[in-house]
Amino acid sequence: MLRSPFETPQERVDTSPPVADEVKQTTCYMCACRCGINVYLKDGKIRYLEGNADHPVNKGVLCAKGSAGIMQHTSPARLSKPLLRVGERGRGEFKEIEWEEALALAVDWLGTVRRKDPRKLAFFTGRDQSQSLTGWWAAQFGTPNFAAHGGFCSVNMAAAGLYTIGGSFWEFGEPDWEHTRYFMMFGVAEDHDSNPIKAGLGRLKTLGQAKFVSINPVKTGYSAIADEWIGLRPGTDGLFVMALIHELLRAEKVDWAFLGRYTNATWLVIDDPGAEDDGLFVRNSEGAALCWDAKRGAAVPASDVSAQAAVVGRCVLPDGRGAVPSFELLARRYLDPDYAPEAVAERVDIAADTIKRIAAELAEAAFEKEVVLDIPWTDWAGRRHDKMVGRPVSMHAMRGISAHSNGFHTCRAIHLLQVLLGSIDCPGGFGYKAPFPKLIPPGPTPAGKEVAPERPIAGMPLGFPLGPDDLLVDEAGEPLRIDKAYSWDFPLAAHGLMHMVIHNAWAGDPYPVDVLMMYMANMGWNSSMNVQGTLGYLTDKDPVTGDYKIPKVIYSDAYYSEMVPYADLVLPDTTYLERWDCISLLDRPISSAHGPGDAIRQPVCKPDRDVRPFQDVLIDLGGRLGLPGFTEEDGSARYPGGYPDYIANHERSPGIGPLAGWRGAEGTQQGTGTPNPDQLQRYIENGCFWSHKLEPSQLYFKHSNQSYLAYAKKMGWIPVEEPITMQLYSEILQKFRLAARGHGAVQPPESERARIEAYFDPLPIWYPPFEEAAVADDGYDLHAITQRPMHMYHSWGSQNAWLRQITARNRLFVHPETAKRHGIEDEDWVWVISHHGRVKGQVRLMHGVNPNTVWTWNAIGKRRGAWALDQDAPESNRGFLLNHIISELLPAREGGTRYSNSDPVTGQAAWYDLRVRLERCEPAAEALTEPFMEPVKPLPSTAAGSPPVLRYGADLKSPTVPQSDDHLPAKEWIGNRHEVSRTVDGVADGRGNQTAGTGGSERSAKGVA
Ligand code: SF4
Repeated sequence: MLRSPFETPQERVDTSPPVADEVKQTTCYMCACRCGINVYLKDGKIRYLEGNADHPVNKGVLCAKGSAGIMQHTSPARLSKPLLRVGERGRGEFKEIEWEEALALAVDWLGTVRRKDPRKLAFFTGRDQSQSLTGWWAAQFGTPNFAAHGGFCSVNMAAAGLYTIGGSFWEFGEPDWEHTRYFMMFGVAEDHDSNPIKAGLGRLKTLGQAKFVSINPVKTGYSAIADEWIGLRPGTDGLFVMALIHELLRAEKVDWAFLGRYTNATWLVIDDPGAEDDGLFVRNSEGAALCWDAKRGAAVPASDVSAQAAVVGRCVLPDGRGAVPSFELLARRYLDPDYAPEAVAERVDIAADTIKRIAAELAEAAFEKEVVLDIPWTDWAGRRHDKMVGRPVSMHAMRGISAHSNGFHTCRAIHLLQVLLGSIDCPGGFGYKAPFPKLIPPGPTPAGKEVAPERPIAGMPLGFPLGPDDLLVDEAGEPLRIDKAYSWDFPLAAHGLMHMVIHNAWAGDPYPVDVLMMYMANMGWNSSMNVQGTLGYLTDKDPVTGDYKIPKVIYSDAYYSEMVPYADLVLPDTTYLERWDCISLLDRPISSAHGPGDAIRQPVCKPDRDVRPFQDVLIDLGGRLGLPGFTEEDGSARYPGGYPDYIANHERSPGIGPLAGWRGAEGTQQGTGTPNPDQLQRYIENGCFWSHKLEPSQLYFKHSNQSYLAYAKKMGWIPVEEPITMQLYSEILQKFRLAARGHGAVQPPESERARIEAYFDPLPIWYPPFEEAAVADDGYDLHAITQRPMHMYHSWGSQNAWLRQITARNRLFVHPETAKRHGIEDEDWVWVISHHGRVKGQVRLMHGVNPNTVWTWNAIGKRRGAWALDQDAPESNRGFLLNHIISELLPAREGGTRYSNSDPVTGQAAWYDLRVRLERCEPAAEALTEPFMEPVKPLPSTAAGSPPVLRYGADLKSPTVPQSDDHLPAKEWIGNRHEVSRTVDGVADGRGNQTAGTGGSERSAKGVA
């Protein structure tokens, strides 16, 4: 019997209990923002997390995810011991083994591959924040088949930025929140873009001096607090931006001075159709690009600051060839009536008048509200400027833009818009974060053309091609990498194609592998397209030999994710509070536009399980395998102290190591310097981070700022103190086109020429997303996309006992008009059907969505048995994954070719190109998602260790406080306003409701208490 609340025994509240006996600082890893945290410990156990007020990223702010790190750290889904598969792959039948046996086995498998053909190791990692180490390990092993998760995340955005402005959004740049007057945000994932963006938007709203416009088919998260929401149709952002450019050009609202000083707008482009250098820049004998000096009537180096460089017109070169400034080509392209707002309005679902108004507002903010700071500075040519004058328009974009098959060009178009407005790295604009800006593109080129047994490859597996000569293809033009990155299929695949590895390895296309090694990548579920197909690839056997087509799978993870049952050897990782980590300038640091920064994680408590940090394991394996970078000349391990030893002592090049702070024997140097044995201690004393504030004169125009460029050179970020010239027109893309036209030593196979010609336009283009184009006539009338809830991160968040209380299942959100058209009502169950398959989910109507689009939260749906959740957890019974109906391959083209469902330039996974139709389910088919796959077998250790109710903190209560076993009745849960769930007569209904508890916080590991 439940008591009335009035009968509940009165609790005696101790208002000032001793919270902890120790506080340690480290870096949060509940998302990618890398906030500083203070961890309160009592008796060695984590009691409480708070934000580190001194930390440059979060300044004390801790979000819901960050606070819930305690439940990540104590998750019943944690792995506890190395595992060796004993049953068939996929069944989850393992035996626990000792680390020595696990490592010996890994060395045997990996060593065999390395002695025969190192390419037969495919090593791919997820969102692990240690890619500088893992990529280097792969290089030392000798395989080019390495990448992290970027290929299925945001490589379009990163590559487009790095090939255009020498920087990018997100980790590489940020808005100048303090001075901006107009902020445009394109399709971000709120779980990734968390505290820093939230703080920035808060600042924007507090200052009240800027308009915030969100461009996103869905009005959730940040879009919900925007001053204006532009709910355009998915995959049309590029067209929208090009229409804005059309309007700005038409009104001549562009920053001519900025274009002339900092971009290649004046560089002359050879106009000689059919010639081998048609479309390349006119260069002198030293290789310097030339412009047309109207004063002298001659072509002169574009770096000649005395020239009166033309931006339009046509000139005749001394050898008789014609040439035009690249801006002329740009203006011709976007002034075309095809890009007029009236011409694109219907396609983008935005009224022409709205597009025109936004363009006018951008122009007004940039040119009528310029920000002038009284800060003198000197540019690269030695010209002194009294003030810093900025065009206060800032932008930010992420995965929503990126994850389309036209994403690379869309991202480039956004950068073009910024550049035309003159709003790059100026007061009020977008600002580079160190180590950016870098050369365009940053070096080096990808390594891996030559592979030999027991030899490292010549450099890092991932890099930035400068032209066809840098592709990783054989003489016949066939791919050298398992994922076909840097092949004619995806020439600028700067982050690889993780989403294709398992398919290609299974198909033996371009060749089979012997060992697939993965880390922190849930490829058995929410990180794969075509989930069931992928599981089929992992379990398929050769009919003749009976062996798995992918012979050996090594997997490391901290949790019992859906991928674990598909591994042969499982190396259990620690949680982020039990490990060292390095958030490095060689990788993705914590810099801001005001200065560089990097950080570490330190272990704040000891693992209570037999687990090891994967980075330690990797370094250990490197030593055991005798990889050159990991062993001394006498064969002993170079980093016997594991990852912290490596962090402090590894030098990627002389004087440059993973951490930039406190370098040199005395710890007095920044950026470069010999290793400092006390470096990690100095980081710990400083709250686990290092940061440096730039001088005021270095704060803006970094691409051209003499003082900043000298600093960047000294820090080892750029090879020479020369300005970084933004590339509106991309000569590199044109080089690929010329190859397709039959020029140069490395040319595409016949079958790829037309594709390269079409998609390697040196100026941004827009084309309908591939899947949409392929199924246009098949009745798939809706776009289907996912969003990430800001209170979760990837699949980790939706197994977290506290975060599950906010969202324990996902709905399909549909606009009421769309629902009406389909005869669907709120709460109906529907089939979401694509050309690849169908999945069942429950509808929730909402107005804040483009009517041609349906959407759902990503990675909430789970497979039964995984993550130590109970078999009837809402996540697995009612939650659903769109991944089931996204194919990793596009429909067949003429000749039967099926390309990857990816951007043709970078190989970025085109998650958001999905087209669907809806069918209402018959009532009998309601209430359970489909596909409703067989549960994976819970691990004995996780099953036994999973209590029915998680009661974190109950044991921390004072024994003098009376405890009651009675729970208050479950109350109606008011979580996300779109997802309010219900209880019936106070009984939890399996829809994600929580129970109120008397001690600490609790959540049923079995779904609902
Ligand atoms: S924003 Fe990310 S890194 Fe920062 S506290 Fe939240 S989860 Fe942690």
